[in-house]
Amino acid sequence: MIHKKWLKQCACELRKTATQGVPGHGNPDARVVFIGEAPGKKENEIGMPFVGAAGKFLDEMLAAIQMKREDIYITNIVKYRPPENRDPLPEEKASCALWLQEELNFIRPKLIVFLGRHSMNHFFPDLKISSAHGKLVHKKLKNITTEYFLPLYHPAAALYNGSLRAELIKDFKKIRLVLKRLDSEPDR
Ligand code: URA
Repeated sequence: MIHKKWLKQCACELRKTATQGVPGHGNPDARVVFIGEAPGKKENEIGMPFVGAAGKFLDEMLAAIQMKREDIYITNIVKYRPPENRDPLPEEKASCALWLQEELNFIRPKLIVFLGRHSMNHFFPDLKISSAHGKLVHKKLKNITTEYFLPLYHPAAALYNGSLRAELIKDFKKIRLVLKRLDSEPDR
């Protein structure tokens, strides 16, 4: 895939403090791509996205809609762990942006699921996650082929917050329904 090239050439400043880059992972033929924020401690150690507590929760939610990691592709806005898991800076997001764009245009998913506000705001800066979560967005953007987007709360934020957790579990079930609906649309 494209990761070999980007692991060499990505100019993100976070390379200086991270152990390794964490490229996207999963099925290159996936109909749905999930986008998180940035690798955490465990992801930085292992070199794969969503392999810590948030990833375990994600796997449970996938299982509840009869899906597996092998059915999806998952990546992050930023491919290197920010120190102490701080929010990635705008320039760090910008450094990794073309890498993400190339991933998305290689896979060309029908649906992109945003995991959390950082991911959503990278594409839709004006949306608020508190009102946008669980609502399908249809928009033709300039640099990617995908036209359907579903913002969700981030699993790490929802993990220990009862009400967010319930909302996320409820919203997650929409993924299956949306994919079914999109399957009946002709390919572009
Ligand atoms: N949180 C993220 O946003 N991405 C990961 O890969 C892990 C946790």
